[in-house]
Amino acid sequence: MKHALVTGGSGGIGAAVCRRLAADGCHVYIHANRGLPAAQTLADAICAGGGSAEALAFDVTDSRAVAEVLTRLVENQPIQILVNNAGIHDDAVFPGMRAEQWHRVLDVCVNGFFNVTQPLMLPMIRSRWGRIINVSSVAALTGNRGQVNYSAAKGALNSATRSLAQEVASRGITVNAVAPGIIDTPMSESAFDAQAIARMVPMKRAGTPAEVADLIGFLASMQAGYITGQIISINGGII
Ligand code: NDP
Repeated sequence: MKHALVTGGSGGIGAAVCRRLAADGCHVYIHANRGLPAAQTLADAICAGGGSAEALAFDVTDSRAVAEVLTRLVENQPIQILVNNAGIHDDAVFPGMRAEQWHRVLDVCVNGFFNVTQPLMLPMIRSRWGRIINVSSVAALTGNRGQVNYSAAKGALNSATRSLAQEVASRGITVNAVAPGIIDTPMSESAFDAQAIARMVPMKRAGTPAEVADLIGFLASMQAGYITGQIISINGGII
């Protein structure tokens, strides 16, 4: 049974990804930061349905805390599927953006990617099979007013995806990013009302977390072995 780690598994998209990977037969580590009870409830539901999952918590910006937990997780078996999904946005038009808004969003989205991914690489490389899927955003591809920090962070994640893919391609490891548009989770609820969605999205609706999870589930599968270094949009036709 392959071990999978989904960061931000306590959130909207992450929870759907955890369900999908568990349904595909993985043992899923459901990661949370402040929302450990939600991750635990999800782990209990997956186990009650015959799947295999456990909840754990750390702040992805705290490199020492991350390393402590991850070292223990890979003692007996490598994590071969990693979904870097934890992320935040903190919007403001650029002239009014406070330094801490800039630094915090980059810290979670970019340094968090480093802190979680780096300690998992050698065990994954030794196993000669792996899947890394980074959750980016349409904002990195099109830009978005009020999201200079967020689009910079997700753009960095896209570039890291392409470079890491080249480093590890010969080891049977693929590295891809998915770039969702507007997905129906608490994160997007505050930012876009129904009118804005109808105006911005050719399909006139938000995507669902399950639709994103289906794409990630495919990228994590054996069948996706020749797809690497790609940024794959899932956005109802925005671009
Ligand atoms: P949610 O707000 O529902 O989930 C965000 C997740 O990130 C939570 O599980 C949260 O953990 C975790 N998280 C936040 N900060 C930290 C931290 N410092 N350390 C560890 N974990 C942290 O958002 P979504 O499910 O909507 O978003 C998931 C991903 O998808 C994000 O990367 C987001 O940028 C991206 N995305 C979302 C879109 C959307 O429309 N919803 C569109 C494009 C991209 P906890 O709650 O436990 O604290």
